[in-house]
Amino acid sequence: MASGRDRGGARPGGHSPGGGASLRKYEIVIGLEVHAQLRTRSKMFCGCAGLFGASPNHQTCPVCQGMPGVLPVINRRAVEFGIRTARALHCRINPECRFARKHYFYPDMPKNYQISQYEAPLAEDGWLEVEVEGVARRVGVQRLHLEEDVGKLTHPGGVFEAATSSLVDFNRSGVPLMEIVSRPDLRSPVEATEYLRLLRTLLRYLGVCDGNMEQGSLRCDANISIRRPGSRELGTKVEIKNMNSFRHVRAALEFEAERQARALERGERLVQETRLWNPEEGHTVSMRSKEFAHDYRYFPDPDLVPLQPDPARVAEIDAGLPELPRARRLRFVAQYALPPYDADLLTGDRALADYYEEAVRLHPNPKALANWIMSELLRELHGDPAAVAASPIRPAHLARLVALVDDGTISGKIAKDVFERMARTGDDPDAIVRREGLQQVADEGALGGIVDSVIEAHPDAVTDYLRGKKQSVAFLVGQVMKATRGKANPQLVNRLLAERLPGPGR
Ligand SMILES: [Zn+2]
Repeated sequence: MASGRDRGGARPGGHSPGGGASLRKYEIVIGLEVHAQLRTRSKMFCGCAGLFGASPNHQTCPVCQGMPGVLPVINRRAVEFGIRTARALHCRINPECRFARKHYFYPDMPKNYQISQYEAPLAEDGWLEVEVEGVARRVGVQRLHLEEDVGKLTHPGGVFEAATSSLVDFNRSGVPLMEIVSRPDLRSPVEATEYLRLLRTLLRYLGVCDGNMEQGSLRCDANISIRRPGSRELGTKVEIKNMNSFRHVRAALEFEAERQARALERGERLVQETRLWNPEEGHTVSMRSKEFAHDYRYFPDPDLVPLQPDPARVAEIDAGLPELPRARRLRFVAQYALPPYDADLLTGDRALADYYEEAVRLHPNPKALANWIMSELLRELHGDPAAVAASPIRPAHLARLVALVDDGTISGKIAKDVFERMARTGDDPDAIVRREGLQQVADEGALGGIVDSVIEAHPDAVTDYLRGKKQSVAFLVGQVMKATRGKANPQLVNRLLAERLPGPGR
């Protein structure tokens, strides 16, 4: 089904939200259908670009506007992206697959059918390993197929019912999509969200999709049903649409499982239907009764010949797959002795993992670099690991900063100031330290003099200390740090103070 379209006409189904114990008697069964927009230069069946944010109808031609008499041509790169993804998901590539016409009427699709794949998809029978709370499970991937996106309707004046006209934009029409359908193997909203997160990471590693859910380049529909534990049969499934963030997916599934359990407990019968997630109100609403495949009158598109992927080319694509997130995560733990949490975070984005490995190669202190990246650098990137590519702080700079701390040139505290200057200026840390005279003072003679004058200037603190108030030492250390603008070596300051102050009670 074409997902993510702007249909505003749903009405509340009259179900009240709310928690309850009824769900505990049931097992949740979830399958996800993920649509990923492929990062090709042109659309699925024509030469138009499909960039996000272009002026309406500026990326169109007769093919993607569905004019009569035009002939579609298959985008070779889109097929290769599909194969790449399918192989990374351990799918079998079908020796021959076909494009099919999926018929339905909607004003954003003037030819009244969408080109998709039905009986013979590009690939089938794969899996993705998902780990929740330390337990890893293989989630089956039933099929992966290619299709085209449809146009986009907007209804000026707000909601569908109130609008007096509708506008159609065909920029998105014909944009290549890859649909990845999981088996109903997911057993909780948390697991479903984790599957989606890992799939998104994988697609980004493969470079086939930017994974941007807000812009709609990754969309997710879910099928969810519940059943008594131990039952082999599936319950009546409901499809949920309109979830454009991980948070929405989880919240919508949690709501829907609960709604179904309460309905069954009340003795109601569930209907197979499509429901929309309403994030503002936190519930799902009935959109329409579910269509069945025969409603679409699928048939092979006579304009497109069957696709027969060349096994040699498939083997080539196979061989060219990058190291995938899971393998890389395990390697990070083994090679750099990182805690699994760090490895997971650092390998969650390919650019970030590359950044980390480059920095470690230049200064082999894996844990310190991991800490800097996970705290300081990610904060600087506003939590978006993908933004690392554009960061003014290059891996060599960060490696050098940690090296300066490790060899005692600067203190850890000063390093944070240097880091901020690096972020602002893009300068390397050596230049900043030199320019601003930030080298740590570890010269005993120079520091001894400062310690003496601090002791002399704060006789009250010394008296307090002699009476047993241990915190007074911290105060005196603070004064020395202040006098040296944070540059004093803290271990040395502590030692010099201890040497000068007699033990309490002596
Ligand atoms: Zn076009």
